Amino acid sequence: MFRTIYILLRDTGRRPWEVRWLRTDCLDTDTGEYVLIWDNHKARRNRRRLEISRDTAFAIQAWLTIRKTLKVPARSRTFLFPAARHGYDACIDADTMARTLRRWVDGLPELLTDAADKHGQPLPFDRNRIFPYAFRHTYAQRHADAGTDLHTLRDLMDHKSADTTMGYFKVSIQRRRAAVEAMRTHVVDRYGQPRPTSSATAYEARSVAVPFGNCTEPSNVKAGGGQCPIRFQCSGCGFYRPDPSFLPAVEDHIRALKADRETARALDVAEFVVRNLTDQIDSFQNVVTSIRTQLAAMPDNERHHLEEAAAVLRKVRAAAPLPLLPVPTFPTRGDPS
Ligand code: SF4
Repeated sequence: MFRTIYILLRDTGRRPWEVRWLRTDCLDTDTGEYVLIWDNHKARRNRRRLEISRDTAFAIQAWLTIRKTLKVPARSRTFLFPAARHGYDACIDADTMARTLRRWVDGLPELLTDAADKHGQPLPFDRNRIFPYAFRHTYAQRHADAGTDLHTLRDLMDHKSADTTMGYFKVSIQRRRAAVEAMRTHVVDRYGQPRPTSSATAYEARSVAVPFGNCTEPSNVKAGGGQCPIRFQCSGCGFYRPDPSFLPAVEDHIRALKADRETARALDVAEFVVRNLTDQIDSFQNVVTSIRTQLAAMPDNERHHLEEAAAVLRKVRAAAPLPLLPVPTFPTRGDPS
């Protein structure tokens, strides 16, 4: 039973509790392929269907054959993995599952990584990194490394958003390069006019990501993005180069600017403050409209490809924090400063 649980965790990437709660009728076929029927309790989507390999299906069948010979408590009758202890859930409990996996992993005589030490000997794998939920990450990483496209992987993981899926794997250098290659021809300037970059190398070497787009100002590029000479007034700057991967950030910023403008009006500030906010909103809105128009005019497969590249670049940027903006703060009541 535990061997089958391990195989299911490893091969299907389902969450540990989704494996625990599998039913005895969880195996089906669809046009000659084996399918696992499982419940996504987290998203309240039941009877999901996931294509699985023959080996995974055979492991389930082998366990079902053994299971038939066992005396199973009545409350566990429909569960693939019946309760191992009296008085617990109807299916195998999470604690037993995790402890059994730990015992097995700790008992393996050798567990090595692909990396080598200075003598060329393979380094040991950190066994603490092996626990039931970790298999969901390795499932996603395996697919990403094999080149599964992001939207297919999102479906396999049963996520609503591709950005959630991105949290499950690291982006390889090749994938990042491919994303830059796709994105570089869709760069615009602060007016929303196309300003394609000549090559992927130029995109990476001659610009740096700042919060709402790339910046091509040489001294800021050299400083890694944290040394804007004009306090990140990107919407009015000739060095500003946004692209579709920055759309969510720009749209969030427009919402924040609108909220600031409302606050400013309520505070009865000088007209130039409101005007400045309005000009920024209009300028960022031009960028968004231009990029959205570009996207809408693309054939579906091309747009799909570009959205995937955008998600990859957002993931890369999330791993390297962007410079913090010098946000002015209003003094609180009673604050002498
Ligand atoms: S305002 Fe923006 S685009 Fe212009 S130099 Fe500063 S960070 Fe770069």
